[in-house]
Amino acid sequence: MSRHTSWRVGGPADRLYIPADLEDLAAFLASLPPQEPLAWVGLGSNLLVRDGGVRGTVVMTSGALSKLDLIGEALVRAEAGVASAKVARFCVDQGLTGAEFLAGIPGTVGGALAMNAGAFGGETWNIVAAVETIDHRGALRVRPPADYRIGYRALSGPAGEWFVAGHFRLRAGDAAHGKTLIKSLLARRGASQPTQLPNAGSVFKNPQGDFAARLIETAGLKGACVGRACVSELHANFIVNNGGATAADIERLIARVQAEVEKRHGIKLEPEVRVIGEKD
Ligand SMILES: Cc1cc2nc3c(=O)[nH]c(=O)nc-3n(C[C@H](O)[C@H](O)[C@H](O)COP(=O)(O)OP(=O)(O)OC[C@H]3O[C@@H](n4cnc5c(N)ncnc54)[C@H](O)[C@@H]3O)c2cc1C
Repeated sequence: MSRHTSWRVGGPADRLYIPADLEDLAAFLASLPPQEPLAWVGLGSNLLVRDGGVRGTVVMTSGALSKLDLIGEALVRAEAGVASAKVARFCVDQGLTGAEFLAGIPGTVGGALAMNAGAFGGETWNIVAAVETIDHRGALRVRPPADYRIGYRALSGPAGEWFVAGHFRLRAGDAAHGKTLIKSLLARRGASQPTQLPNAGSVFKNPQGDFAARLIETAGLKGACVGRACVSELHANFIVNNGGATAADIERLIARVQAEVEKRHGIKLEPEVRVIGEKD
């Protein structure tokens, strides 16, 4: 899985399945034994896969489930494997505004829906009109946002279903203005994030009324390392793989940061990244 995660760590999956399309995915799921464990992965940009790998089947949507269409007035349908940045650009090209914030989030639509990904004041579920899901038996459903509890980088909803597409409600806008906005959002990111080294974006959620990066920095943890995993010097809420880090290094560093921030500030940071798989 180290080839399929932005941290470039993680042991092998028992099986990795990449659907040809939605129909192929439904037929594949229907053919699996009902108790087969499933892990869904988009671009792996918010995911720590442990060194012992993943038991069961990993379903990978990135590069698959890639349809992106205008399906109504200011309504865009994007399948789960479409890059979030592509949705942002597509909407702008259609003269629509509201999805520009997605341009700087390096994941898929499925990952953005699952995480309620957001940036620069925008959040994925603010623009969701409906989602299409699939269950373990391959049954497809269309669901309204009212079926989900939506939080900051958090979402809960019907169990045993995964996203195969999102329908996004935008507003009429100006394409030239949208392009300029995307350019400026990307420039702001490039200056403040360690884009040269493998990472998974913000590791911890911001606690209410504060910033995880501020708490980590003032606990003196910028540059702290476990093995080859280090707290970024550029952005304290990022952990970078300095080359050859293991998932265990990263997980230990996460625990160390949590412990030292709690000791110093009395606040327990909650990870934003998802951890899956078995320890070595
Ligand atoms: C440099 C960098 C910057 C980042 N900046 C931001 C940012 O500004 N804002 C932000 O919110 N995030 C940010 N992230 C984190 C990450 O890009 C987002 O969370 C993104 O939405 C994850 O998408 P993904 O496809 O990579 O998901 P993955 O990492 O593959 O998966 C994340 C979670 O979503 C689940 N999932 C994936 N696809 C599906 C599906 N189809 N159905 C159901 N569940 C699914 C997975 O099982 C997993 O639990 C950043 C990451 C990096 C590396």
